[in-house]
Amino acid sequence: MPERNMPTVKEALQQASSLLMRALAERTGNARPAEAEPAGGGADGRPPADGEAAREARAEAEMLLMHVLGWDKTRLLLDGDAPFPERLLGRWQEAVARRAAGEPVQYIAGVQAFCGLELEVTPAVLIPRPETEILVEAVAKRVRALFGAAGASGAAGSGEAGGEAAFPAGTGHGRPGTGGARRPLLADIGTGSGAIAIALARRLPGWRIAACDVSPDALEVARRNWARISAAEEREAAGRAERLLFLQGDFLEPLIDRGERVDVLVSNPPYVPSGDIPRLQREVRDHEPRLALDGGPDGLAAYRRIAGQIGRLPGIPRLVAFEVGFGQAASVAALLAETGWWPHLDIVRDYAGIERHVLAWRA
Ligand code: SAM
Ligand code: GLN
Repeated sequence: MPERNMPTVKEALQQASSLLMRALAERTGNARPAEAEPAGGGADGRPPADGEAAREARAEAEMLLMHVLGWDKTRLLLDGDAPFPERLLGRWQEAVARRAAGEPVQYIAGVQAFCGLELEVTPAVLIPRPETEILVEAVAKRVRALFGAAGASGAAGSGEAGGEAAFPAGTGHGRPGTGGARRPLLADIGTGSGAIAIALARRLPGWRIAACDVSPDALEVARRNWARISAAEEREAAGRAERLLFLQGDFLEPLIDRGERVDVLVSNPPYVPSGDIPRLQREVRDHEPRLALDGGPDGLAAYRRIAGQIGRLPGIPRLVAFEVGFGQAASVAALLAETGWWPHLDIVRDYAGIERHVLAWRA
């Protein structure tokens, strides 16, 4: 049998881990997959310790292996001593070589975990980052506080208990009507894979969600992600289909064109200063879409454009939430404060302690 000479699955994993470990070690000094932060790559300026690099290489090799074999982690643990299937050897070697040459493991495997979901990713979309999960949780929490449980889980003002309270007949701009059946709308601007839109759709079942992007290819990925994830949920097909809108265009333009009243606006726009892009880690610089990264000369172009468009919506959203780049929180907070539309501001830090999300809201 040809498989007699094959390494076992475990051995193949071990070999690939060592190979990737050496490849990762070559990127010394540029180790963290973040925007150009203080010299040295990591938030603390250090390359990763050996143990950390080994763990990373091993985790990546495992992801590739599970992808190529179509196995889950349990099977890997149980059947690791089986010979590596010969017919998959070519694909396996190619996957490892692509990774060693700098392609992100997520594009090779085609998936990234985000907020407990498995999202398809292609080179047309940014690979969703762990810090963006913090934005999702912060927005969900603020939405519940502002709009109440009815807004979060049921039709706004449709006669359910709490509906009126959730959307008081107000004088404020952007308040939904006074008790019609209108569902509140949250817009995710620059949705990419749909990560933020889909994670929030699952947390806010009574809401309509607009997933917007200028890139038609990104919107296709987002659409497929929602179709797959919502089908897995046991929901009424009709309600499911109409809850997410996919809109192509320049930031808020498609919402303005449709006259959509946006209650909550969320965005992780491109924010890397153009001049920092050459210094990004190669995985990001050479493989992720420049359209998803390039924030103009000072990185703040998208925030200015979006803030400039908000006044052309039928009403001012009650909550606006942005992810921001390193050192940008104060400028973005000032940009939002200047409008006078939102008296309250929250700044949320990421896992590295960096000010990463800015939320502006009015009660
Ligand atoms: N929301 C996703 C996430 O957090 O993983 C992707 C964020 S990525 C940093 C920014 C996204 O903005 C990209 O998908 C890009 O295509 C989109 N984008 C860039 N310029 C845009 C514009 N002028 N109008 C709308 N979307 C834009
Ligand atoms: N967080 C990304 C990075 O690490 C940048 C994404 C963005 O521009 N919003 O490079």
